[in-house]
Amino acid sequence: MNKEIKKDFPILDQEIHGHRFTYLDSAATTQKPIAVLEAVNDYYKNYNANPHRGAYYLSEKSTEIYENTRTVVKEFIGAKNEKEIIFVKNATEAFNLLAHSYGMNFIKEGDEIVISVAEHHSNLVPWQQVAKAKGALLKYLYLDEEGIITEEEIANKITNKTKIVSVTHVSNVLGTIQPIKKIIEKAHSVGAVAFIDIAQSVPHMKIDVSQLDADAAVFSGHKMLAPMGIGVLYGKEELLEKMPPFMCGGDMIEYVTEQDTTFAELPNKFEGGTQNVEGAAGLTSAIQYLNEIGMDNVEQIEDELVSETLKRLEELPFVTVYGTKDTKKKSGVISFNVEGIHPHDVASILDSYGVAIRVGRHCAYPLLNYMGVNAGTCRVSFYIYNTMEDVEALIEGLKNTRKWLGYGSK
Ligand code: PMP
Repeated sequence: MNKEIKKDFPILDQEIHGHRFTYLDSAATTQKPIAVLEAVNDYYKNYNANPHRGAYYLSEKSTEIYENTRTVVKEFIGAKNEKEIIFVKNATEAFNLLAHSYGMNFIKEGDEIVISVAEHHSNLVPWQQVAKAKGALLKYLYLDEEGIITEEEIANKITNKTKIVSVTHVSNVLGTIQPIKKIIEKAHSVGAVAFIDIAQSVPHMKIDVSQLDADAAVFSGHKMLAPMGIGVLYGKEELLEKMPPFMCGGDMIEYVTEQDTTFAELPNKFEGGTQNVEGAAGLTSAIQYLNEIGMDNVEQIEDELVSETLKRLEELPFVTVYGTKDTKKKSGVISFNVEGIHPHDVASILDSYGVAIRVGRHCAYPLLNYMGVNAGTCRVSFYIYNTMEDVEALIEGLKNTRKWLGYGSK
């Protein structure tokens, strides 16, 4: 199936440094299928105009494309209505919106904010800022050896003092799936709001935010086949209603006088300025593409790739894989190190074989510090267009890396 899917991604059909291109960095951003490229092109060719503003045909079409995406997203993630879907630039903007609009207004001195040590900086630095500004305490949920938040951590760290819990569903470093439902339930049992980072889960598995009962959920379109520059903040209507606007200006107002302003209703209250309609057109097309494959199939394709990669990595005695090796507990991300070789050297040598992987600290310094691997890790991440040939290229590339640096292939 993935071989057929791959044909929809022209960028993958090229040689890099004289080798077949192997793209293993989809957790950073995914490649885009022709359908998405065409949706963006079609928007500019036929419908471009500023949405929500003009009383003329193209502006109405542009508005229709933009608002239709809201409905498509609502259905894809199981939100209750369109008012709960706010378009933002990316997950980072969404967390900043939550931190500034909710955190800065509802957190008081002595309150506690709970996140996990596995957070991407976008769900960490904004809460540090809130905690510092308000005199609140930022507390961390730590991980077990498999890279998973334990029941004890959830029971002990989330207390009556906790006002916000903001946790990632899937770690962008380890790929581990966190017990997000239990965390949300515990947060609610102490009267806290629960925000979740689904940037690494919504592209890879079926997510239903209403069923999870999250108060807010955050993701970026570019990690799920859509263009860069469009992301989503899902928020329960009652939460978003009580939050003040984040960015002020055009389009988010109801009425403005010299000294005062009344704000637009949801969702426009949070969407100041000209919005990314081309991104919305691409996001609709991306979701349609994923729906056609079916999220169950997406999961299955990745499971097979991850199982095979883990099995093959296990056969290499010079490779250490971090976190669980149980594919049921992880998504399409694997972090590892190669004995005696700095991750950056691994990536550079693999690149010379046309294999693109991510190395470094993956915008998760506290996690890498907690894992005791401050030099960083090598990270491979998969998506629907990857094939077993890609796994083969990675394994051969790793053996060659060792040989290049004089270790032999064992
Ligand atoms: N959260 C997670 C789990 C991520 O993997 C990323 C991107 N690496 C982000 C948030 C931030 O996404 P963006 O850079 O698109 O804002």
